[in-house]
Amino acid sequence: MDTFSPSILPEALPELSEEAVQVRLMRELFVRTRESALVDFLPVLLLGWAHWEAQPLWQLGVWAGLMLGVLVYRWLVAHLFLARPKSQAARVRAWLLLERLGAVGLAAAWVSSMVLLGRGEVDGLFHLRLICLVALAAFLLSALGINLQVYANFLVALVLGTLWVLYLHYPAYAYALPTVAVGLALYVLMLLLRSRGEYRRAREWVRARLTQRKLLDQLHQNIQQELQMHDMLRNRTHELEETNRKLGELAIHDGLTGAFRRGHIEAELRRQVKAWERSPDDFSILLLDIDHFKNVNDEYGHPAGDEVLRRLAEQVQGMLRGSDLFGRWGGEEFIVLLPGTDLDRAVEAGERLRLALAGLTFKADAGRRFCITVSIGVAHLEPGETAASLTERADKALYAAKHAGRNRVLPYEPGQTEFSPL
Ligand code: GH3
Ligand code: MG
Ligand code: MG
Repeated sequence: MDTFSPSILPEALPELSEEAVQVRLMRELFVRTRESALVDFLPVLLLGWAHWEAQPLWQLGVWAGLMLGVLVYRWLVAHLFLARPKSQAARVRAWLLLERLGAVGLAAAWVSSMVLLGRGEVDGLFHLRLICLVALAAFLLSALGINLQVYANFLVALVLGTLWVLYLHYPAYAYALPTVAVGLALYVLMLLLRSRGEYRRAREWVRARLTQRKLLDQLHQNIQQELQMHDMLRNRTHELEETNRKLGELAIHDGLTGAFRRGHIEAELRRQVKAWERSPDDFSILLLDIDHFKNVNDEYGHPAGDEVLRRLAEQVQGMLRGSDLFGRWGGEEFIVLLPGTDLDRAVEAGERLRLALAGLTFKADAGRRFCITVSIGVAHLEPGETAASLTERADKALYAAKHAGRNRVLPYEPGQTEFSPL
């Protein structure tokens, strides 16, 4: 299925390097070490409180100082490692070695409680210390369990140390030592087995976290790319719209004068004639032709002729109403559509245009100046008439104006025929 995104298929999950997983696992180990070092203060306080009366204070102080030193050391090792998030494998190994020392130190400090806090008697306080040792071993499983070596270092130091201290300082225990040793060995085995499960679970969790992070990064990247594409597309659409608009302008506007092209103004005229059939109103047109324009070109040059056409268009456009339309009908011939205008007012409008255009002065080379005149034919739309016959009548009026001597405005009158220009 096309719509199914391949990025969510299991085989497309990001590749994780073994080193990255190991480094992340170590980070997890050090996070737990730092937390457990802090939590370990609690049993220290408990034992201190329990031995307050029964123990010379200097001994309690030495033991508490020892414990404190070890806990601070472990906390610092973990904390310094975590402060360097981009640790490489070699550095991780160095820190791991330090933590193994810390684990052995912790076990040794706890075992020392048997000597420093004990009096060789098997009493309630003695049992409290043993319970604390066993509880500590179980508690540390959740913290150090993900690294079998660190955890084994701790357990071996704890168990062997305890057995040795019992043997040296607690004669009352000497007869039971083999049983205690077997019991402790079984306990350690169970904890170590449990540590393997702890390691596997932590590893899976780390892999899942890293995969999730990579997928999120990928997603973030995809979104960024998509946003960039979106921006590009929007700019491109904007450019295309602008180009289309310009093309549209060019398609309907004459390049030289800016007036509507013949095709467009003709279509507009047909549309207005059709609209007139639905709601009849006055509608007139003017056909305007420059007199003897050929002479302008011949005498002053074609560029001067172009300038005349441009200025004429500018002048006419500036004098029309918003509803009027102005188009280029041929070379130097223009048409004006005047909706809502009867014949007399159209003639007046033509007259105003004629006068204004006659008032324009053009500059030619060598400081020469010249003026132009125009002839205008006017026709008013009659019922049942088509656009073609309307322009034909305006054309007849225009040629009548030419025939009558040019520089004038004439309305169509029946009987006018097309004359050849003089
Ligand atoms: P009449 O008074 O009878 O209209 O005389 P006329 O010379 O204006 O008429 P004619 O039709 O003989 O000449 C029109 C001239 O207009 C001929 C052509 O070279 C010129 N013309 C047409 N289009 C352009 C244009 O775009 N630029 C320039 N400079 N001249 C043009
Ligand atoms: Mg002409
Ligand atoms: Mg002409």
